[in-house]
Amino acid sequence: MWRRALIGAGLVAAAIGARYWTADGGGAATLKESRPLMGTLWSIEVAPHGREAEARAAVERAFAEAARIEALMSEWRPETAVARINAAAGGDWVEVPDELRAILERAIAYGNKSSGAFDVTWRGMGRIWRYDDKFRTPSKKEVEGARGNVDYRGLQLEGNKARLAREGMAIGLGGIAKGYAVDRTSRLLREAGFADSIVAGAGDILASGTNDGAPWRVGIQDPRGERGRLLGVIDVSGAAVSTSGDYERFRMVGGVRYHHIIDPRTGWPARESISVSVKAASSEQADVLATAIFVLGAEKGLALADAEGVDVLIIDAAGRRHATGAFSAIVARPGLGASGIGGRR
Ligand code: ADP
Ligand code: MG
Repeated sequence: MWRRALIGAGLVAAAIGARYWTADGGGAATLKESRPLMGTLWSIEVAPHGREAEARAAVERAFAEAARIEALMSEWRPETAVARINAAAGGDWVEVPDELRAILERAIAYGNKSSGAFDVTWRGMGRIWRYDDKFRTPSKKEVEGARGNVDYRGLQLEGNKARLAREGMAIGLGGIAKGYAVDRTSRLLREAGFADSIVAGAGDILASGTNDGAPWRVGIQDPRGERGRLLGVIDVSGAAVSTSGDYERFRMVGGVRYHHIIDPRTGWPARESISVSVKAASSEQADVLATAIFVLGAEKGLALADAEGVDVLIIDAAGRRHATGAFSAIVARPGLGASGIGGRR
C-alpha cells in the first residue's frame, strides 16, 4: 500500500466528498483540511466552536500523528521495522517498537477471528500483485508458488521481537494501519478539546460527536456507478465506517477485474464481493472487517459481522445487497442516486 499514485487532487477530493456530507449551506462553519497521506487523500474536519487558532493547531498535530504512523508502519521504507522483518524472513528476530508489536498482535487475532480471510502476511503475494505501472497478470503457477508464503500463523512474536517463519514471507499493514491511524488522529482531536470532528482516510471514516447537533452523514459509493453516485447515506455519530471495494485499485484484463484485496486461500483477487461497508466502534475494526468480509462473501461475512457486533452492507458478486443495522435503510431504497442528497436533514 501507500504507493498508489494520486490521480489528481480534484478527482480524489471528489471521491472523498462523495463519502460524507457536512453542513455546507446550513449549519455552523467547520474547519476542513485535506492532505495526501498513506497513498491516498485524507480529510479532517472539526467544529472549532469559536477556537479557530487552537483548532487549526490541533488539526496540524492530527495530520502529524497520521504521518508518524505512516512512517512507523510502511513496508516500503527500508528503515522501518516492518521492512526489516520482511528482509529477515526465515532468519533473525527483529526488534519492534511496542506500538507495532501491539498492532501485529491484533492483526494476528483478526486472522484467527476471520478464519484467515484477513491475513497480515498477504504481502507474501505482494511481489506478483502490484497496482502501479508494473502491474501484470501472473500465471497460475506463479500464484500457486507465492500462495505458500501467506499464512499469518507464521508471524512469530516474542517479547519485543518479531520474525517470519520462512523466507519469502512478508507482512503488509495495508489492511489495518489506515484504520488505526484514523482512530489515533480522531482521539488526538478529542483530547485537544474538539469533540465534534470527522476524520476520513479515503474510505476509512470516523465521525465523533455531531455536526452542529446533527449526526454526521456518510455516503456509500455505488461500486458500479460514477464517483459520487451513491447507494445511500447513513447517519454516523461516535462511530466508524469503512468501505472496501474492488473499484478502488484495479486493472481490467480480458474482461477480468484484478483488484487489491487478495483472497489468502486462492492467492487471487477475492471474487465473492464487489463492495463491503462496515460500521463499528473503531476505525481499525471497521477497516479490518471490511477487508475480511469482502474476502469471505455474504454468508460467512454476515456471520462474522454478527459475531463482532458490527453493522454491514455487502454487495455480493451478483450485485445483491445484504445489509444489517444502520445499512438496512439503504437496501430498502435501491438505486438512490447522488442528486437530491446533501447538506443536513
Ligand atoms: P483500502 O486500502 O483501499 O482502504 P482495504 O481497506 O480493503 O482497501 O485494504 C486493502 C489493502 O489491504 C490492500 O491494498 C493490501 O495492502 C491489504 N490486503 C489485501 N488483501 C489482504 C488480506 N486478505 N488480508 C489483509 N490485508 C490485505
Ligand atoms: Mg481499509
